[in-house]
Formats: sequence, C-alpha cells, structure tokens
Amino acid sequence: MLMLCKMPRAGVFRENFIFGRFEMNLLEVRNICKTYGSGETAVNALKNVSFSVSKGEFVAIVGESGSGKTTLLNMLGALDTPTSGKVLIDGKDTFSMKERELTVFRRRNIGFIFQSFNLIPELTVEQNMVFPVLLDYQKPNERHMEELLEALKLKERRRHLPSQLSGGQQQRVAIGRALMTRPSLILADEPTGNLDSQNSSEVIAMLKEASKKYEQTIIMITHNRGIAQTADRVLQVSDGVLVDLGRCGE
Ligand code: ADP
Ligand code: MG
Repeated sequence: MLMLCKMPRAGVFRENFIFGRFEMNLLEVRNICKTYGSGETAVNALKNVSFSVSKGEFVAIVGESGSGKTTLLNMLGALDTPTSGKVLIDGKDTFSMKERELTVFRRRNIGFIFQSFNLIPELTVEQNMVFPVLLDYQKPNERHMEELLEALKLKERRRHLPSQLSGGQQQRVAIGRALMTRPSLILADEPTGNLDSQNSSEVIAMLKEASKKYEQTIIMITHNRGIAQTADRVLQVSDGVLVDLGRCGE
C-alpha cells in the first residue's frame, strides 16, 4: 500500500520508509473489547486488544481453548461486532461501514478458511473455488485459477466432487476458494484441525506459497507448534488478553 503524499498521523500507522514510499499496516486493531451477554452471565471474551500487522506478514494466533481466539478472528473479519474498539483493514474502518458495503468489502478483501472445509458437496473442485467470484458478479480469472490449481496440487482433481477427495485435498480446495478473489487478508481458524500432521504441513506450505505471490497477509489460529514456529510472529491470547510473543521459530 503506497502512501505518497498523505502523511500518516504519528502513532496511527507504524510506517516504514522504503525507497521513498510509506508502507501502511494492512491491519490495525485498536482497543477491541468483546463482552457476550450481560449481568451475572457476562463473559469478557476480549479485553482491550490492540495490535497491527503489516502487508504480507504471516501471523499465528495461539492460546488455550476458550481464550478468545475465534472471537478475535470474527472481529477481524467483521463477522461479529465488538463491544468497543476499532478494526482498520487497509486503512478502512470496517465497523463504520453499512451492512451492504461491508458485505462487498468482506467478499473482496478477506478470504476465510475454517476447520470444517464448508465446501458445497454438489459442486466440483473448480466450481467451489470460483463460487465467491460469481457471488460478486465478477468474471473468473482463468489464469489465476490455473495457478492456484497448480500451487495447491489440485490439477488432476479439478472435476472431482468434495466427497471424492481426501481431507487434505478438501482443505486445499477451501484454500483455493479463499484465494480466488485475491484477498489482501486471509483469516484461518484452525485450518489443519481436521488433518494429520503430514497433511497439515503440506497444506500450510501450499497456502504460504500461494499467498506469497500476491503479498497476502495471513492470520491463522493454530494449535500446531510446528506451524506457529514457521510464522513471522506469534500472538498469544490468554483469557481475552493478547500478548505479542514475537518470532518463535527454530
Ligand atoms: P477459542 O476460540 O479461543 O476457543 P472463543 O473465542 O470461541 O475461544 O470463546 C471465548 C469465550 O467466549 C469463551 O468463554 C466462550 O464460552 C465465550 N463465547 C464465545 N462465543 C460466545 C457466544 N456467542 N455467546 C456467549 N459466549 C461466547
Ligand atoms: Mg476457536
């Protein structure tokens, strides 16, 4: 993202001066709080969470079950609204958008990958991948489709139905579907939770490879230590509080 003439306000963006350009953070999360319910049954699922992620960064989110990881990812993807706080994607304040505008923004800028693959059983690999593009009334980019099928090693399976694929292959189709619109942000909630370790590392390697070309930012919740170790940065959520653990590799 280029910021050529507009100087970001101090403290708002962490800017890097590279070859005369300002690079803005792709994601800014500011003071997010989320409380479910009220009174005695209220759950403070997120407590004043703030962080930023730069373009092309691969961030892993770790933490115990029930710590608030999915709640956080839902806020980042604007699938749910926070009790207070802001999320900016590419400088745009998602929670200030009207529902229609937000739906289109989400469809064009964010790719979601879930633990359950959520593929449409009646559609082939290719048809599943192209689905979000058609939903947006756009013409599918054939070359991009070919590149993704190649990168995700699905070429030979393009006309198969999900039921004719292994778990690892199905998750690769879900990744292809998330990448078909070339979103700048990819949000993944335990994408390898249903896969064995061999398949997990393969799937993640392919996701990283496929996303590198378009400098896509990945934020991934994972319980897999090996995957967290390959991330550029690890964020830990403990009882709704976020801690930046930095790089945890090697
Ligand atoms: P994680 O993904 O880390 O396992 P979640 O974000 O799903 O954790 O949940 C965080 C906390 O918020 C938990 O205590 C959970 O019970 C609670 N919670 C999550 N979703 C809801 C909801 N829709 N209504 C009420 N409480 C919820
Ligand atoms: Mg969860």
